[in-house]
Amino acid sequence: MALPSTYADRNCSLARSLEIVGERWTLLIVRDAFFGIRRFGDFATQLGIPRAVLTTRLRFLVQEGVLDHTDGEYVLTAKGIGLWPVMRAMMAWGDEHYSPGGDKRTFRHEADGGRLDGASRCSVCGEVVPPADVTIEPGPGYDPDTANADPVSASLTTPHRLLEPLS
Ligand SMILES: [Zn+2]
Repeated sequence: MALPSTYADRNCSLARSLEIVGERWTLLIVRDAFFGIRRFGDFATQLGIPRAVLTTRLRFLVQEGVLDHTDGEYVLTAKGIGLWPVMRAMMAWGDEHYSPGGDKRTFRHEADGGRLDGASRCSVCGEVVPPADVTIEPGPGYDPDTANADPVSASLTTPHRLLEPLS
């Protein structure tokens, strides 16, 4: 699903990155992979994405080395995990400008419970925390009335660690 490159894009790594993750569904699939979703059916349920589109996007992400596909599960590679700072910054930007009730989700440093800012810096220890050490929970701006009622969505509202499979 790469967008056509233009001559002007060839010297810009942002343009190259957007060819991989610049499409809406693709970035949401990557987000859900960070949140612990691994199975095709769970991505389909959580995202409400047409299955044919999901198939294409997952295949592309595997081909680009963003996801690994083994034993029926899609798991972020080191390359995919490298997208975390971008994801976190975009969520924080959305919270700031489009979520008047406050953050939709709260991210914390597992080790000390400190809240993370948009750059994943911990309010307690001051470290920039890698995603494997981050827990996620519903924030003050989270509206349970607009969440899906399916089991996948329900498990996403329980505090859990990023990248760990949903139980
Ligand atoms: Zn900390």
